[in-house]
Amino acid sequence: MPRLRISYWCTQGHETPVVFSLLPVDQIPEQWDCVRCGRAAGRTANDLPLPTAFGDQPFKSHLDYVKERRSVAEGEQLLEEALERLRHRRGRPGRR
Ligand SMILES: [Zn+2]
Repeated sequence: MPRLRISYWCTQGHETPVVFSLLPVDQIPEQWDCVRCGRAAGRTANDLPLPTAFGDQPFKSHLDYVKERRSVAEGEQLLEEALERLRHRRGRPGRR
């Protein structure tokens, strides 16, 4: 049985993968409720034309999501460096 796997992206950048049994393209829903936050999510442009109502919004929020994750990683890196400096300071006698 052929299946159709479609990802929907909400404005928060959450991906909602939905698997349909094979449907004509014009019967695929243009929106789906986000599984994480319940907002309306739109389709991506991977293999289907973007619905005009959404413009490039899902793509932008995906980028935002990637940026968000990167800044979290940088934050962890900074924290790690700060802890490292603290350890060095403590390990050095006679210096406060
Ligand atoms: Zn969401």
